[in-house]
Amino acid sequence: MSSTLLLNASLKNKAPAKINLLGYDLVHMKAFFTEIGEKPFRAVQVLKWIHQFGAEDFSQMSNVSQDLRRKLSEIAEIRAPEIVAEQKASDGTIKWLMRLDGGNSIETVYIPEDNRGTLCVSSQVGCALDCGFCSTAKQGFNRNLTSAEIIAQLWVANRALNPLALKSLALNSLPSNSLSLNKDASNGAETGIRHGKVQDSKNRVITNVVLMGMGEPLLNFDNVVEAIHLMLEDNAYGLSKRRVTISTAGVVPALKRLREECDVSLAISLHAPNDQIRNKIVPLNKKYPIKELLEACQYYFKGDTKKKQFTIEYVMLAGVNDSEKNAHELASLLKKLPCKINLIPFNPFPNSEFACSKMQTINRFKDILYKAGYVTVIRKTRGEDIDAACGQLAGKVKDKSRRIKVANTE
Ligand code: SAH
Repeated sequence: MSSTLLLNASLKNKAPAKINLLGYDLVHMKAFFTEIGEKPFRAVQVLKWIHQFGAEDFSQMSNVSQDLRRKLSEIAEIRAPEIVAEQKASDGTIKWLMRLDGGNSIETVYIPEDNRGTLCVSSQVGCALDCGFCSTAKQGFNRNLTSAEIIAQLWVANRALNPLALKSLALNSLPSNSLSLNKDASNGAETGIRHGKVQDSKNRVITNVVLMGMGEPLLNFDNVVEAIHLMLEDNAYGLSKRRVTISTAGVVPALKRLREECDVSLAISLHAPNDQIRNKIVPLNKKYPIKELLEACQYYFKGDTKKKQFTIEYVMLAGVNDSEKNAHELASLLKKLPCKINLIPFNPFPNSEFACSKMQTINRFKDILYKAGYVTVIRKTRGEDIDAACGQLAGKVKDKSRRIKVANTE
């Protein structure tokens, strides 16, 4: 909905629904300020306050005039889902359960490693794709997340992981008489906030974001793209586009659109070396078979010499897709593609009909691919003891009946 419509709606109602600015990217935020009769540079100030300093209240925005702060708090808000549970695994992985409006909830996972911290973000409540080996699929599908609910996962995690840094940077980066900055800023120049970005690499705890949580990101295209704009935006999280990864089961038309609108890293959930096997475990394959999917991947890379590789994800399911023949088949299928391969040991969940391949089988599979010239890694399972590993995220999904409908519409 445009901010005009939202604004009109909020002004007409007696108890106006406030506009949530959390999910607005720079373009959207500038349009919002223009619409309320303010200068567009306010968009930069407010974006920094929200995303770099974790502000949740306009009253904290000390370089914004008091009149504007009052006006903003009457019509707008900064509202994220509430954390209802936080679990920490023995390996340091953290999982948050967040409650959304309407009673649903989603899960977000933080995976710390020596040289990086990865946040695994959800894009939908549940998932419509019904992949047989995925616990989220078993939950059914309820709805797309808004751009605010997607970026909120980063905002919430950042505040939870980095609370003191956010506060001290906000204080240290503003000169004592910060209100005078309003004058400096009237030409659109940056304000005092610029000096102490919480997203500077030395302060950053979240260095990578992967859209590998609940849902199929490319079936929630517009909201995912707006949230990614904020991840990449210098005035928000400033992540490099190589450090933001969309993982998809292969919604081919959306992959083509993605190339035009948003240039990030790509992971393809292939999981099978031929259509016969893939049709059984990834039903979306019946609509977009492997050949079309790999052509779309090639198109994503065409003419862009800066993009190096995409990732092929391959879940190891005992007796389903893990034979030596399957490995050779996969090697020849991917022959002309600039990809590396990530083998994912299957993570079990209650009532799943699959079992994980033996480690010996996974290693043999890896060797065959390696000898065929592919960079191949076995994904380390993280957060298993708190059900935070790939495919184990479930949250709480109300009204699961929409699964079939959505799977057939895209
Ligand atoms: N819908 C997107 C992203 C969600 S899942 C996609 O399909 O890519 C992220 C990755 O975890 C995908 O590769 C998915 O296939 C994999 N996955 C799902 N369930 C799993 C399980 N039980 N064990 C291991 N990997 C799983």
